[in-house]
Amino acid sequence: MTHLDGGSKAQPYVGRFAPSPSGPLHFGSLVAALGSYLDAHAHHGQWLVRIEDIDTPRVRPGADSDILRTLEAYGLHWHGEVLWQSQRLERYQQVTAQLQSQGLIYGCQCTRKQIKELGGIYNGHCRERALTGRDLALRLKQQHPVYHYQDRLQGHIDISPSEAQEDYIIKRRDGLFAYQLVVVIDDIDQGITDVVRGADLLIPTARQIGLFTQLGRNAPRYLHLPLAVASPGFKLSKQNYAPAIDKENPQPALLDALHFLGLTPEPELVNATVNEIINWAQQHYHPARLRHALEVQVSKGENGQTLLHPV
Ligand code: GLU
Ligand code: ZN
Repeated sequence: MTHLDGGSKAQPYVGRFAPSPSGPLHFGSLVAALGSYLDAHAHHGQWLVRIEDIDTPRVRPGADSDILRTLEAYGLHWHGEVLWQSQRLERYQQVTAQLQSQGLIYGCQCTRKQIKELGGIYNGHCRERALTGRDLALRLKQQHPVYHYQDRLQGHIDISPSEAQEDYIIKRRDGLFAYQLVVVIDDIDQGITDVVRGADLLIPTARQIGLFTQLGRNAPRYLHLPLAVASPGFKLSKQNYAPAIDKENPQPALLDALHFLGLTPEPELVNATVNEIINWAQQHYHPARLRHALEVQVSKGENGQTLLHPV
């Protein structure tokens, strides 16, 4: 096996792509899918897919199967069975009950507005109030604040103490389990060793690492890819809602995503099949080639190609 950073000698690599089915795949999510796929294959690992449909009000009917069909059209075939968070509520409840029995959870009545007035970070107002009843959010008493961690691409990440120490919500007032809780339970249950995803999750990762510790597990390694953002004057997205990538003609976006990941596809690949492009990418991907940035600006060229403007 070639030497790659982040690879572990003992433990086989298990990676994943975990899209939220709030809409079709767009260029940014293709980058996360492709980056996690290539990194898993470079480590001779598995690449799993999980549909993060826990936030039901934001789920768009049919988006999950559309995402899966798009991944296939782009040559990104996953190992094993797809996991749907909506089918795992009992498991999330079981972990919540366990934390509850350890005295680590409390109900909170504070509104978003009140917390915003306090500067946006929750101050533990309800910690000792022993509130009971309905219409409460559940918060975890933070026992394992994480002040910094090492990201495989972004390096040393510092978290502000108030953010690290915050008692965050694990079950929302509307009864839905919070992303922060379920993502860790899923990563544990799927045996994930390596998370490769967008840099929008750089700060929440600290919380997730703390929750692994709370649950008695080792956290995976993390690699946060730069985010594709619209360059000024170019509208990539309407309120973060970027256009869907083309399922019928995947080659152009696939090649653009490889450029984004720091690769330089050979010109002949313009006429290659998806599988040929993916094979080429597997031979040329290396984590050391990834762009060291939190954001990369993109726009569209005259022929519709994605132009990158590293900042
Ligand atoms: N479901 C999240 C998203 O689509 C990604 C979560 C993760 O990769 O941990 O933004
Ligand atoms: Zn409160």
